[in-house]
Parts: sequence; structure tokens; C-alpha cells
Amino acid sequence: MRGREGAMRAVRLTRWGGPPVVSELERPSPRGEEVLVRVEAAGLCGSDLHVIDAGPGALPYRTPFTLGHEVAGRVAERGPDATGPRTGERVVVYGPWGCGHCGHCAAGAENYCDRRSESDASRTGTGAGLGRDGGLADFLLVPSGRLLLPLGDLAPAQAAPLSDAGLTSYHAIAGIRPTLGDAGGGGTAVAVIGVGGLGHLAVQILRATTSAQVLAVDVKEEALALAADCGAHFGTLVRPDTAEALRGRTGGAGVDAVLDFVGTSATLRLGVSAVRPSGALAVVGSGGGELLIRKPGTLPPGLRISLPFWGTRRDLEQVVALAQAGAVTVATERFPLSRALDAIDALRSGAVRGRAVLVPDEEFVRS
Ligand code: NAD
Ligand code: ZN
Ligand code: ZN
Repeated sequence: MRGREGAMRAVRLTRWGGPPVVSELERPSPRGEEVLVRVEAAGLCGSDLHVIDAGPGALPYRTPFTLGHEVAGRVAERGPDATGPRTGERVVVYGPWGCGHCGHCAAGAENYCDRRSESDASRTGTGAGLGRDGGLADFLLVPSGRLLLPLGDLAPAQAAPLSDAGLTSYHAIAGIRPTLGDAGGGGTAVAVIGVGGLGHLAVQILRATTSAQVLAVDVKEEALALAADCGAHFGTLVRPDTAEALRGRTGGAGVDAVLDFVGTSATLRLGVSAVRPSGALAVVGSGGGELLIRKPGTLPPGLRISLPFWGTRRDLEQVVALAQAGAVTVATERFPLSRALDAIDALRSGAVRGRAVLVPDEEFVRS
């Protein structure tokens, strides 16, 4: 089901407030440095729901654009000036697309491009599927080969979620790593709030790269079961006494760090009441919650708050290497691209375990 020759399907946000629509578009032809990727897997992220639900003006992007910011596939065609992977090579797409030239981009941190807020129309959007045409489609046009990483033997459905769920988790953990190493000799503890697409990979990355005790928190029993499968030492549903339960696992002092993959006011409050003095709170979830910062006040002294966004190219290399070594495995639920809208509904209803991944219809039938 690939439609007419030279055409492709794409799941597009055509107006703010959605719903997304499946459209038929011309298959793009790469020019200059561009590379055309045949999409073999595209993950669905909690952020896709935030984007679909956003009102006009809430995000600095223009409609219409194709959704999908977690993409793996095969290089189908290269522009005349393209660098990087060759035609036919399997790749994962580094999704944050910056200017490519500022200090951050030159250092491989396009997630923090300094020119992100410029109003130049060609640079609206922060990356694939976020204001720029993404990978919920048969093909994805990537601006440059510098944004592609060879996959090796990794299956595309494993690799695609690594480019955001894995990458963002890895980057957030990199930010709290110093805190996890300075407990003064004792063991450290980290709370992971929200064990969905990102959280279940965060648990595995923590187990693979730290010796910290990993404490999982979710509102769903199934998510806690997934956390246990991923190596969490302890799991608890959100309850009035969750902060005490977490502190109880640390002898009362509080956890060294909190990774909040939800980001509502309730989870931010939970995070700051569970963390010990001089601990770290990484707010990853875009739940729109607010936390009052005031001195003097009630926040733990020495608290370090970070707002990590996506990750660097080097972080992506590291998390792909962990997956290639078998230390990180994505729990996937596969859907054919033609059922993308059902997959979005499944994510919204909380029915997905791990990550929903869209694959080409013919791949879905074959397996
Ligand atoms: P997901 O839907 O796969 O997982 C969310 C998990 O949180 C689910 O298991 C859900 O049951 C749980 N949850 C919901 N409310 C909760 C609560 N009050 N307390 C505890 N657990 C709760 O979503 P995801 O794809 O993992 O994304 C998670 C969040 O991270 C989203 O807000 C998304 O927009 C954001 N995100 C941020 C970045 C970034 O760069 N900062 C990147 C990707 C995603
Ligand atoms: Zn995302
Ligand atoms: Zn830049």
C-alpha cells in the first residue's frame, strides 16, 4: 500500500488542535547536502500528544508539517553534496536539527542550538517532526548527512526509539551523574517518575551505567511491572505517602536525584519532597507543571534543577552503543504505518507498554 509512483504517505498536523491527517505527498528529492531516508521505523512520543493538542501560538512552529521525531531507516538517495552514510546503509536520525554552525551545533549539541529562536522561516522548528517534516511517513528528507548515525546490526524498530526516548533519557542522566557519585561513600538512590517510553529506558541506562538504587514511580501497575523487568529495585504507585516511601528506601535522608518524566505540578512537588539536600531534580516531562523557586523557602538547600532537552550527538552514539552491547532493550509495540492514528489513540489512552513504533505495512505483515 504505497500509493502512486513518486508519492508517499505522511501523517501530518495540518492545523493546531489536530487531529492529524494521513495525506499523500510527493516523495521529496534530496538537493545539496540533503539525504532521503526510507523510513523503516518511527516511534511515537508523549511529546507528539502535546504537539497535537497545542493551541495556536503555543509552539514556535508553523503548520502543516509531518509528525514523527524518532526515526530509523535506510539511505534511499543522497543529494549531490551529501556527506556521511552511503546509499543503502541503515541509519538512525539525530532528530534535533540546529543551524549546524553555532557553538553548540559545532560541538554536536544541536539540541541547544543558539539560533533556535531566530525567526528565519527556514529554521522554524526544532527538528524532525517538530515544525519540520518528520518520519511518520514512507520517506524522510534529512537536511544533512551529519544528522545520520549508522546502525550496525541493530533492528530499526529498536533504533528509532533510541533517538529520543533513549537519547533524552541518556542526556538527562548525564546531567545528574555527578550527583549520583557524591553520596559520601554510601549507596546513592534515584527516583524515576513515569515509566513509559522514556522512563523504561532511563531505568535500564541507570542500571547499566551507575550503581545507584533505582526507585520507580507511576500511576499504572503495568508500568511498575515494566520497571521491574528493566531492573528497577523498587516500585510504587503514586499515593499520598509516596515521598515517605521513597525516603524510606534511603534511610530517611531522601533520594540523591529525581528524573521526572511527567512534569506536572504534582510530580514536581513529589520530586522536591523526596530529594535530599544538595540533590538533583531533572524535569524531562512536559506536563506543564509549575514549581515556585524562592529563597528563603522550602526547597531543599543546594537543590540543582535541570531542564534537559533531547540530547547531543555524542549521547546518541553512547546510547546506541549500549543497545548494540545488549545493555538496553526497547519494549516496543509495533503498528503498521497505515494504523498510525490508532497508535496515537493507544498512546493517549495509556495502553502502550514501552514505545509504540510505526513500521511499513509490508514489514508488519511479514513478521
Ligand atoms: P509515555 O506516555 O510513554 O509515558 C508516561 C508515563 O508516565 C506513563 O507510564 C504514565 O503512566 C506515567 N504517568 C502519567 N502521569 C503520572 C503521574 N502523575 N505520576 C507518575 N507517573 C505518571 O510518555 P513518554 O514518551 O515517555 O514522554 C514522557 C514525557 O516526557 C512527556 O511529557 C514528553 O512530552 C516528555 N519528553 C520530553 C523530552 C525532552 O527533551 N525534555 C523528550 C521526549 C519526551
Ligand atoms: Zn519525543
Ligand atoms: Zn546552531
